Amino acid sequence: MRINGVEHIGIAVTNVDECIKTLERIFGLEVSDRQTIEASNVEIAFLPCGATKIELVTPTSESSPIAGFLNKRGNGIHHICLDVENIEAWLEALEQRGVRLIDKKPRMGAHGRKVAFIDPKSTCGFLIELSERIS
Ligand code: ZN
Repeated sequence: MRINGVEHIGIAVTNVDECIKTLERIFGLEVSDRQTIEASNVEIAFLPCGATKIELVTPTSESSPIAGFLNKRGNGIHHICLDVENIEAWLEALEQRGVRLIDKKPRMGAHGRKVAFIDPKSTCGFLIELSERIS
């Protein structure tokens, strides 16, 4: 069980196009991938940034949890995603340590990765995503 690094940093934004343009203009970052995740009612865009990536997340419907986040806090860091080995073992170990999990079992995320979210109530109030490459 290892943590390899920060896979990406998820930023919630109300206007993804405007944010992409800003990051392109001021840092020269480019979008590597953009997709809609129907199951979560979000559109995401990845901008590689050195060893990690920025993930812009915007809601595609008011029922998306991202819409609630934005209504409450506005644009900002939504989650940090850790690149781990053996995500199932991590989830089991975290549960044994009394950590509350949003996903007790990993689900499929972008780029053929298994992902799971940890309840912020167990992590000092911020959202952490675990992610394992399977392809
Ligand atoms: Zn993410």
